[in-house]
Amino acid sequence: MSDTIEKVKCLIIGSGPAGYTAAIYAARANMAPVLYQGEQPGGQLTTTNDVENFPGYPDGITGPEMMIQLQKQAERFGSDIRHGWVTKVDFSGPIHKVWVNEEKEIHADTIIISTGASAKYLGLPSEQKYLQLGGGVSACAVCDGFFYRNQETVIVGAGDSACEEAHYLSKLCKKVTMLVRRDEFRASKIMAERVKNTENIEILYNTETKEVLGDGQVVTGVRVKNNITGDVHDIPATGFFVAIGHKPNTDIFKNYLDLDETGYIINAKPGTSKTNVDGVFVSGDAADHVYRQAITAAGTGCMAALDAERYLAAKDANFEVTTPTYN
Ligand code: NDP
Repeated sequence: MSDTIEKVKCLIIGSGPAGYTAAIYAARANMAPVLYQGEQPGGQLTTTNDVENFPGYPDGITGPEMMIQLQKQAERFGSDIRHGWVTKVDFSGPIHKVWVNEEKEIHADTIIISTGASAKYLGLPSEQKYLQLGGGVSACAVCDGFFYRNQETVIVGAGDSACEEAHYLSKLCKKVTMLVRRDEFRASKIMAERVKNTENIEILYNTETKEVLGDGQVVTGVRVKNNITGDVHDIPATGFFVAIGHKPNTDIFKNYLDLDETGYIINAKPGTSKTNVDGVFVSGDAADHVYRQAITAAGTGCMAALDAERYLAAKDANFEVTTPTYN
């Protein structure tokens, strides 16, 4: 443990669109934010090829490039962006304590959590190979479905997300094959009915993915196995979508913050970024299991910085609020 404790006004944990946007707003509001990037600087978007639905980029932009630009924008106003992984927190007292890389201790007046969520994958080596290559494996139909227009795709999962994404893909793709590992959906009845009633979605029950097939560069198909009959066959496809759930990156907060059963942070006051601990705010996918878009994450990052600024102003008469009142 370090013997020097650093004191900061605003500590931002996580570096996706939520964290960087919070940093831009906090820096411009004289909060001297310090942002720790975490294990994957830039967050989930760094695993996306082209982002075509973020307003302001008529020609699209790659996910990594967008994150570099957001970081630069945050740094331009004086945000202190650091490599480092927050390993422990203590929100039990009036001072919010955070430890970085198990050693450095920081005391922060305000904390903005932007740790995001991670899409779950099956873990097959072939799936990971084409995911890393950017060659046709995705966990976000809204982000990547457009690239498979008029093509055949396969989606795995049977929850609400899988149904929503399969339906989204069905409007773009020639055919969508949905792999359901049991003989029934987990999704709500209405969502399941919608995919069942969509002409170009074929549902294969009791079916598991054996291997994602490809030519070494891009996906060409999926090998599947019926877990009742043992039958194995290949489905031609250029895109393989995984929709088996997300895991919010909130484990280190569970002793202090209210989380739902999946681990998403619960907003103490809906419509704000407040958590159940005063001075601790949340933005982005760590609290959002519904929208999960870069633009919504950025929006909530802005909200968190504004909420943190108001909190500081209420606590410290010398802290001058620079952004307009928005009650
Ligand atoms: P869920 O946990 O609800 O569903 C995950 C699905 O993936 C299940 O069908 C599960 O199968 C399947 N699965 C898990 N692991 C594997 C595997 N290794 N191989 C094959 N299939 C696998 O996650 P969702 O992301 O769908 O939903 C999360 C929450 O968000 C839910 O509460 C949902 O209701 C909500 N949501 C709501 C929406 C809406 O209302 N518009 C939209 C999206 C999500 P099995 O059933 O066999 O366990």
